Amino acid sequence: MQRWFTMIIQTYREEATQYVRNVYETVMARNPGEVEFHQAVKEILDSLVPVLESNPQYIEHRILERIVEPERLIVFRVPWVDDNHNVQVNRGFRVQYNSALGPYKGGIRFHPSVNASIIKFLGFEQIFKNALTGQPIGGGKGGSDFDPKGKSDQEIMRFVQSFMTELYKYIGPDTDVPAGDIGVGGREIGYMFGQYKRIRGGHEAGVLTGKGIRYGGSLARTEATGYGCVYFVNEMLQSRGLSFKDRTVVVSGSGNVSIYAMFKAKELGAKVIACSDSDGYIYNQNGLDIQIVQRLKEVERKRIKDYVQEHPGTVYVEGCRGIWSLQCDIALPCATQNEIDREAAEWLVSNGVKAIGEGANMPSTLDAIEVFLANEVLFGPAKAANAGGVAVSALEMSQNSMRLSWTFEEVDRKLQNIMKNIFAESVSAAAKYGHQGNLVLGANAAGFKRVADAMIAQGVV
Ligand code: NDP
Repeated sequence: MQRWFTMIIQTYREEATQYVRNVYETVMARNPGEVEFHQAVKEILDSLVPVLESNPQYIEHRILERIVEPERLIVFRVPWVDDNHNVQVNRGFRVQYNSALGPYKGGIRFHPSVNASIIKFLGFEQIFKNALTGQPIGGGKGGSDFDPKGKSDQEIMRFVQSFMTELYKYIGPDTDVPAGDIGVGGREIGYMFGQYKRIRGGHEAGVLTGKGIRYGGSLARTEATGYGCVYFVNEMLQSRGLSFKDRTVVVSGSGNVSIYAMFKAKELGAKVIACSDSDGYIYNQNGLDIQIVQRLKEVERKRIKDYVQEHPGTVYVEGCRGIWSLQCDIALPCATQNEIDREAAEWLVSNGVKAIGEGANMPSTLDAIEVFLANEVLFGPAKAANAGGVAVSALEMSQNSMRLSWTFEEVDRKLQNIMKNIFAESVSAAAKYGHQGNLVLGANAAGFKRVADAMIAQGVV
């Protein structure tokens, strides 16, 4: 009996493994050269083998073949005129990846590296992240290869207006609701909202999230991703009887996610000793003054190296990678994809890091994740750890629909509960599928099940 049972399990495992391999090979063949997209798909598919083993209906319904294919990918020209009266042309993207759970939802990124691969990796991950929040939102993402750095305010506005003049056709409060991401903050969302409103001729507040508080934004949305990441890491630490108190923290980036992660880590008693931008990092063993970082980056739009002029005791190092060689208890990669590779992960582990919380999307390579898991470092994957931003965006949509606004404390309390639930669900899914403590598998499995069940219920569409 026992032998027979083991053979059945073995057969299911082989079938699931082969299925995953076939789907992955098709993705590689259909999307040649899109390395970031391949990486994001591989991470998810590999971790779904145990879910597919015990749920053969997902194989029968060909859920993986369907889920890896975006419902729609929109690519468009964005012409605009710079301050010297020259015509410039950028490329705009919106991927409407999966609407099984609700309207497409996901940020807009403005960065020269943006291309179809980056947008598809982000959109694909967004499906599972949004599902994990437990809110009724599907997955999408967008952006442009426009570089906001060094552009005047007028240039940003003219570019954004041209971008929205095409994008507006595809979005709406019940169809697709964009938000910010790298290079897109409150200023850009404001210009987007203004142009959308002008074209559509009505105040559809729910079409974008991350809006200013005076015209439909939610309190605590600006803070949500960074705060949420720290709340998630705090849950992980507590599960091992640890906390942020008196711990040293290294945070990459100095943008929206990083700044509020640093504030919250400090509030919980930690010492934030380093942060960066795309040029280099600053380091001070006695702790950084986050208010100064915030002013330099958010208000004055300066470089992180300017910090040392105000704080001569701090060291500036050119190049960002070395930040991971600093000794710290907790590392929060909050800048961009693939910023921690195997070598950087090994530096962190050999320096005794206890926990990693991915504030950015896919900041660790697959090799780096392997190093963290093999060394039993607490590892909070992006889909779970940075879901606080989109969770509060969904709360902003709810407030817009109800035409009322909650207090900062109310939103923050809801955010904390959502992050606690995401942690608990990821832990329990990891244990259920036989990989106790592996939150990569747990988060992927829990998010995937919600979407896959909804897809089956809605038929082949
Ligand atoms: P911001 O544009 O506000 O900040 C990005 C920061 O990362 C800046 O300090 C930037 O430096 C640095 N950075 C960007 N690209 C690179 C690079 N190639 N190498 C090194 N550093 C880089 O973006 P956000 O804080 O909004 O986003 C950061 C990450 O968090 C992204 O991965 C994003 O997808 C993810 N995220 C954001 C959410 C949000 O709510 N904003 C929600 C969930 C995830 P510099 O100023 O020099 O460009």
